[in-house]
Amino acid sequence: MHLYQDQELKIYNSLNGKKEVFTPLNEGHIGMYVCGPTVYSNVHLGNCRTFMSFDMIFRYFRHLGYKVRYVRNITDAGHLVDDAEDGEDKIAKKARLEKLEPMEVVQRYTVDFHTILQKFNFLPPSIEPTATGHIIEQIEIIKDILEKGYAYEINDSVYFDVSKFNEDHEYGKLSGRKLEDMIANTRELTAQDEKKSPQDFALWKKAEPQHIMRWPSPWGDGFPGWHLECTAMSTKYLGETFDIHGGGMDLKFPHHECEIAQAEACNGHSPVNYWMHANMLTLNGKKMAKSTGNSILPGEIFSGNNALLSKAFSPSVVRFFMLQAHYTSILDLSNDALLASEKGFNRLMDGLKILKNLDTAKSSDFDVPAWKKKCYEAMNDDFNTPILIAQLFEAVKHINAIKEGRENISLEDKNELQTTMNAFVFDVLGLEDKNDNEGDTDTLSSVVELLIQLRKEARDNKDFATSDKIRDQLAAVGIQLKDGKEGTTFSVS
Ligand code: AMP
Ligand code: ZN
Repeated sequence: MHLYQDQELKIYNSLNGKKEVFTPLNEGHIGMYVCGPTVYSNVHLGNCRTFMSFDMIFRYFRHLGYKVRYVRNITDAGHLVDDAEDGEDKIAKKARLEKLEPMEVVQRYTVDFHTILQKFNFLPPSIEPTATGHIIEQIEIIKDILEKGYAYEINDSVYFDVSKFNEDHEYGKLSGRKLEDMIANTRELTAQDEKKSPQDFALWKKAEPQHIMRWPSPWGDGFPGWHLECTAMSTKYLGETFDIHGGGMDLKFPHHECEIAQAEACNGHSPVNYWMHANMLTLNGKKMAKSTGNSILPGEIFSGNNALLSKAFSPSVVRFFMLQAHYTSILDLSNDALLASEKGFNRLMDGLKILKNLDTAKSSDFDVPAWKKKCYEAMNDDFNTPILIAQLFEAVKHINAIKEGRENISLEDKNELQTTMNAFVFDVLGLEDKNDNEGDTDTLSSVVELLIQLRKEARDNKDFATSDKIRDQLAAVGIQLKDGKEGTTFSVS
């Protein structure tokens, strides 16, 4: 008996705007594809939010007992600047600016992506395929679309013919757009444009001589269009129809719309049963984005090294902050919000510690089975983590009352409460009780700051024996002091 057999999970399907009961194609199994990062720069906190939403979803599926094949790709080619059809590949541009091989850029930022996700305690996906590792599959799809008459070749590039597709399919059904409106709202094609219509999108682009990332194809040397890799990799690993496709809200159009068109053109039917879109993290009320400079890197939050922050925050506190909002709501990052989340996170962790040592009684004042049911109801209602967290705090309230002798709990209920709390806090929300270590770090900083102050006083008093002793003995235990214009700082080796 699996947990999922007892639960009715509802998912908000972006395809029809409805919350639907989730029924996977194959009982007990789920195929889920999530668009991964473009690895040409450090992953910012906004990107992390989207991947964290799907990490939580992946975790809940696993908790329910599903066997999940979770595919999250790495976009390491074919993404043009400003997502335009023309211009330079973002990775190639970075490679030119930093005088690196494109694959050095890819390696650097893939490592950064993995390091950050590990800090946030993400579970690795089942498969993490790369776009450049699937050029052959992408070429095969283009051939298929050309054969079926939904694409045309021009000047050694291949474009998807949106108008032709729209004759017997519905282009725009995911984003709720009508092709006629799109045509009415776009500029005329200029003489340099080789596409038949502005709505058409590239499946294959001819590589100009200076273009570094290029592959041979039936249409000459070139590179694949932006949307093709996800169709190629999702079909290869999950099949022509699979359960869930996810990504950030900003990918709905044109990326996911084009994915649907490509797959329908090839296979004649819709590729995905449930489309899920995670909402944006904002900063100062605006979407966090690397390109506009309105972004914070995770490393800046972990170190506190950013003018917006009054202190450092641990990855679990940031994780808790993000999961306190529903994945479909916009969330604004601020120092105050992080401070409040840290308080809440600590209260939750304290509650779990108290729970371990609670004395039990013959009966309970806290209806644990009813509470547990509410936790599942929250998650079954389109992964409502804010409601789940409210229920976890409800449990903490009872835990504190039991500790203070105002309420009782039976041994059976205590065990049930502990198992359920641990499952939701650690397995489903993916939080880690590392704040203890953070506490140690805070204490260490305070002690070293005190020694730096005493050393300064010794130096001001020309007591160099004492000031040198402080410096040398700190160095002996691996703490280096560095004197600078702004005062003395320290590092731990
Ligand atoms: P990219 O590397 O630009 O392809 O983005 C990777 C993922 O991060 C995509 O699913 C985007 O939708 C998502 N993303 C980008 N900016 C934000 C943001 N400010 N908040 C949440 N998700 C974002
Ligand atoms: Zn994609």
